[in-house]
Amino acid sequence: MGQMNLQIVKGMRDLVDQEVRVFAHLEEQARKVFGLYGYQELRTPILEMAELFVHAIGEETDIVGKEMYLLEDKKGGKLALRPEGTAPVVRFVAQSQVLKHQKQAKYFYLGPMFRYERPQKGRFRQFHQIGVECFGHDGADGDLELFLMLRQYFAAIALTEVTFQLNSIGCPDPQCRPSYKANLVSYLKEKKAELCEDCNRRMETNPLRVLDCKVAGCQGITQAAPKSTEHLCSPCANHFSELQALLAEHQIAYELNHRLVRGLDYYSRTVFEVYSANLGAQSAAGGGGRFDGLFAQYGEAPVPSIGFALGLDRLALLAPPPAPEAPGVFVIGFDRSLVAKWVAKVREAGVKCSYDPGLASMKSQFKQADKAQARLVVILGEEELLAGKVTVKDLSKGAQATYSPEGALNLILEVLR
Ligand SMILES: [Zn+2]
Ligand SMILES: [Zn+2]
Repeated sequence: MGQMNLQIVKGMRDLVDQEVRVFAHLEEQARKVFGLYGYQELRTPILEMAELFVHAIGEETDIVGKEMYLLEDKKGGKLALRPEGTAPVVRFVAQSQVLKHQKQAKYFYLGPMFRYERPQKGRFRQFHQIGVECFGHDGADGDLELFLMLRQYFAAIALTEVTFQLNSIGCPDPQCRPSYKANLVSYLKEKKAELCEDCNRRMETNPLRVLDCKVAGCQGITQAAPKSTEHLCSPCANHFSELQALLAEHQIAYELNHRLVRGLDYYSRTVFEVYSANLGAQSAAGGGGRFDGLFAQYGEAPVPSIGFALGLDRLALLAPPPAPEAPGVFVIGFDRSLVAKWVAKVREAGVKCSYDPGLASMKSQFKQADKAQARLVVILGEEELLAGKVTVKDLSKGAQATYSPEGALNLILEVLR
């Protein structure tokens, strides 16, 4: 037998202690804030049918083409580890027929997503997202709600100076997107030679995607490209100007960015990204948009839908650390059964408690109490045992005194609970 491979899978990471508490804090605040807006938590499985994503995201995208973790079940069914959160929520809404009984449905989700990307600093193949999806609300005030909610969430996790980038990519209606696409493609064709290889391909398959190419040469060209907002049909134009008026009314800072497209075909009208001064101007904390066309893509009746997703891994790097863990008690002694009784008694009273299972020398046990950052040490020495008493030492003050067992427990509860 060779040696067991005890290495973590490439591109994955373990979260421990402080990191977990930061994640838990970000999640707890999301529950709190999104709950105020009427969003319910939805936990979909991590495994879905692969076609759920192929259908929604499209085979030409990197996500589906290169990055999905695919696996087969024992009957040959093609499954995928979810690479994003929207398609599973849409699947749930369609399958549960929840919109038969109510006009609106609002869900938030949080959890791991999986993409086989090239690992980079701060980027993982299992990454974590918090997202929301709102179904059944087509007005611009439905869009506004997400901006308000994001602003409130960022304030709750102490990220400041929240700003948005905003664009409208119109609807698939013949008046709107197709005319824009045609216009854009004819502009791009003139600059064909100056665009990167990927963009030359995108021009044919998904021309909007050329607009968010990260290659400097392409960015120079798309800066002057025709804007989708100049090709909106009148309902789309009205929706967009109404949203901008609402954002101004609620003092939400935003910038128009005509190169923001979130290149998936099912997006319609509003697309946006959210930034915070804490995160820097270069990269968005998350983004979202309307996807009124996604249900139709699955052959369902259309449902007005809008949502966003935030990258939790990045937020976790910047959010201030949560309060340190509460200090506890360390029990020191030589009589195994007496130590065990006290440890159980303190824990059952709701106070964190640890001890040295090896019951090493008193000196060594004191060292361990220090290391465990205990506040109080319960000392069960020979003298205490004979007198039926308990000594409690407060490590923060260095003071100690001897009590009856009841007195000692009362003191512990007074100091630590
Ligand atoms: Zn339109
Ligand atoms: Zn390019």
